[in-house]
Amino acid sequence: MRGAVDDVSYARVAVPAATGQAFDYWAPEGLGVVRGSLVRVRLARRRCVGVVTGVHATSEIARERVQPLDDVLALPPLPEDVVALAEFVSAYYREPIGLALSLAVPPVRAGARRRALAPPQALVLTEAGSAELAARAVRAPALSALFAKLRDAPGGIGGEAIAALAPRDRRRLAAWRAAGWVAEPEPTASARRVEPNDAQRAAVEAIAATAGRFSVTLLQGVTGSGKTDVYAAAAAGAIAGGGQVLLLVPEINLTPQLTARFAAALPGARIATLHSGLSDGERLDHWAVAASGEAALVVGTRLAVYAPLPRLALVIVDEEHDPSYKQQDGVRYHARDVAIVRARARGVPIVLGSATPSLETVLHARAGRYARVVLPERADPRARAPAIRFAPEDDPGAREGLAGPLVEAIRARLARREQSLVFVNRRGYAPSLKCAACAWEAGCPRCSARLVVHREPARLRCHHCGHAERIPRACPSCGNVDLHARGLGTQRIEAALAQAFPDARIARVDRDTTRVRGAFEAVREQVAAEGIDILVGTQMLAKGHDFPRLTLVGVIGADHALYSADFRAVERLAALLFQVAGRAGRAALPGEVVVQTAFPAHAVYRALAADDYDALASDLLEERRVAALPPHAHLVLLAAEAVSRDDVDRFLAAAEHEARAARARGRAAVEVHAPVPSLLARRAGHERAQIVVQASRRPELARFLDAWVPALRALPGRRVRWSLDVDPIAL
Ligand SMILES: [Zn+2]
Ligand SMILES: [Zn+2]
Repeated sequence: MRGAVDDVSYARVAVPAATGQAFDYWAPEGLGVVRGSLVRVRLARRRCVGVVTGVHATSEIARERVQPLDDVLALPPLPEDVVALAEFVSAYYREPIGLALSLAVPPVRAGARRRALAPPQALVLTEAGSAELAARAVRAPALSALFAKLRDAPGGIGGEAIAALAPRDRRRLAAWRAAGWVAEPEPTASARRVEPNDAQRAAVEAIAATAGRFSVTLLQGVTGSGKTDVYAAAAAGAIAGGGQVLLLVPEINLTPQLTARFAAALPGARIATLHSGLSDGERLDHWAVAASGEAALVVGTRLAVYAPLPRLALVIVDEEHDPSYKQQDGVRYHARDVAIVRARARGVPIVLGSATPSLETVLHARAGRYARVVLPERADPRARAPAIRFAPEDDPGAREGLAGPLVEAIRARLARREQSLVFVNRRGYAPSLKCAACAWEAGCPRCSARLVVHREPARLRCHHCGHAERIPRACPSCGNVDLHARGLGTQRIEAALAQAFPDARIARVDRDTTRVRGAFEAVREQVAAEGIDILVGTQMLAKGHDFPRLTLVGVIGADHALYSADFRAVERLAALLFQVAGRAGRAALPGEVVVQTAFPAHAVYRALAADDYDALASDLLEERRVAALPPHAHLVLLAAEAVSRDDVDRFLAAAEHEARAARARGRAAVEVHAPVPSLLARRAGHERAQIVVQASRRPELARFLDAWVPALRALPGRRVRWSLDVDPIAL
């Protein structure tokens, strides 16, 4: 044993492992270990980074069995509120503390990090660069093309253009940047900055009035109402008071444009971004400037809810209804809800922004627990709500899925040199391949799902497990060669549009066309430069773009959601429809939306036509109340999967038995439902089933979980993988 006993204290370290507990390690005094310290430890034979949750003078473990810490990372410890937040997440979502805390740990694997400069959003020639390069280009023709490109672009060349350069030119640019010959352009205040209208001003004042204390404000603004300007003004106020602002955005919405708008609105304020698109080194740098307080604004996706912010003064959650805030694997937390908990703990206000707030948030606002501020008008006084029209999907004039009125509307746009967006929320060519003679339909051998027909390359693909196979020439069941691709995907609509409008410039945006980093941005730049007439794509297109010449939105295949077994499907469809409709006619040109549907009288379409989300929210809330579903009830989902159906059934039968026992033990008023197959009953060769437990009051559910979860962990079931989802957003 090394060292005198009284030199030693014990650090309890939470490690990112599925074990429920934290472990004790020796922490020699000189290391300065405190709660929140990031330390390297050995766990079994693995080395990992853990977080110290406490330092104690004694341990329950025999001293000779306690291992020493390897070392303490040269990073500031996690602040107390972040450690406490992770402890809350662990307790609330019933996940091991080590996993909950691992969400807050910056990517330290970057270890001896190269301090790479963050990739530039744009580069312009500096004065020194102009002189130097002009001289060199004469002698080096290889340089002159790149130099000319920079010289001829007064606003600089954009990130996409840079990404598209040959590797040699990109290396050259990096060297020039290091030499100071090119630089990122200074942010300039946006020239077309519109004066805030009365509603925006009132919203900013209402938010400012909540400064210095916890309160939740729902900022409900129609698409184009200028919520971002309100965020920026509110953030400016908080920053002027010496505070830091945390802005959470959905995955897909985190665009350079958004950051650029904030940079313009907050001159001089340092902005850090945290999202999965950054390299580990970049993320670590941004984490450090957040932790040091240098960054006035931290913009990030759900993980940023854990950002260290010593002077946090305001939290903003943009598009608070967005499902991407809920993590769907690992620790299944909801970043919006966790953000509210954090704001409460820090005693700061939080703003939830949306055009189509989640029913959870609507209910809180109606009950008076949240303040509600409305932006009823579009911020651009020239912009009006788009006209909504419906067209039957099986219109006699329809061609390949395009209804006659939609075709005519697109034709009119082409004639006026305006742009159209056609929204189809399914990628691929067609969602199924069927035999015309017998009942055969192409199915995934590993999932209970149909295979999707893809073109270029022609394949049948499973969207759940990635399985792919050749398209058969004849029905494998009866030999018939008449196989039908059924239904509409983005590729099919793209083909139909190309056939109907052979001269139009068409671009498709879905997961297949945007796998390459920067591909989506490139299309966006092309649309903005009016190099594209018709955009076809999935919900990736629904958010956050302002194209002044885009005046028509077509919606195809939305009825699909009306058949869904998921109780949130209509709420989600509404959010998508309002969002995608908001793409039409953002400025001076009036917009139009053509929805292809067999059910124009459905409440969701009526609400869209009347531009009245609140009416739909009332209807849906009433439905949920009658059916005792969230937000009028609270759910927990136990999902289990295994190769063998028997293993799943046996596990869930035991889990159900334990649930009934736990309900009795905890005297909890909860309803335990019998096990049922999951919506996707088989995935990647695994059988899947689930148990739902519901309660009308949250404390009842918590008491029940206190009794049930330990029993679940004790169940035998080595071959079964299971997970618990508290407040699931999909069943
Ligand atoms: Zn057949
Ligand atoms: Zn599959």
